[in-house]
Amino acid sequence: MGKKENIIERIEKKQERPLEKFDYRIGPITLFVNDALTNDVSLQDVIEKFRAAIPEEFLGYIDYIYVGQFSELEQRNVDSLYFDGGIYITNQQKSAMDMVTNLVHEVAHGVEEAHKDRLYSDRALIMEYLRKRRAVLTALRSLKFDVEDGWLNMFEYDSGFDEFLYNEVGYQMLATQSANHFMSPYAMTSVREYFADAFEDYFLGRTHELKSLCPVVYEKIDNLY
Ligand SMILES: [Zn+2]
Repeated sequence: MGKKENIIERIEKKQERPLEKFDYRIGPITLFVNDALTNDVSLQDVIEKFRAAIPEEFLGYIDYIYVGQFSELEQRNVDSLYFDGGIYITNQQKSAMDMVTNLVHEVAHGVEEAHKDRLYSDRALIMEYLRKRRAVLTALRSLKFDVEDGWLNMFEYDSGFDEFLYNEVGYQMLATQSANHFMSPYAMTSVREYFADAFEDYFLGRTHELKSLCPVVYEKIDNLY
């Protein structure tokens, strides 16, 4: 008898421990908190801002969100990633809005995965991305950076190209050289990141700038819902 009570007590105590393996519902999404958010960022605030940012129907592309410390994030040195219907996101957040921005970005990858045909079959989005990519690479070449010919026609992620952008060219130089073409330097990474970055801008308040700088991807997003 006493033993049984102890077990119940322990279970109840476990459930009282806040924000550990705790799950929330965000429409169709289940959110698990493996590690509590840092810097007093309120998860409730994040969820409210996230729901307010994007139309409800886009939530349907995501099954799970996992908040915590994950080795995949550390290895890739990123704050969040999308994989197979799930979003993995660090609990170490600077602000609620930072976390919302990352979540919206990863939702974009789910949307992109589900709509590949609609987004890419007419090649217009790929061509818009490549025009910009070539313009920046040409400028970098004239600044004596060692730009490989193959990179001019490549639109998918490539670790060598990534290395070139962030280690050889460096973020500051890239930001300067890409400013007239891309909404952010990161959008230059690949056409998928170009789309995800645009999706962020579309829903997080840079809609008009996106429309004038990147009209094709703007239209593609506008036609998705
Ligand atoms: Zn991304």
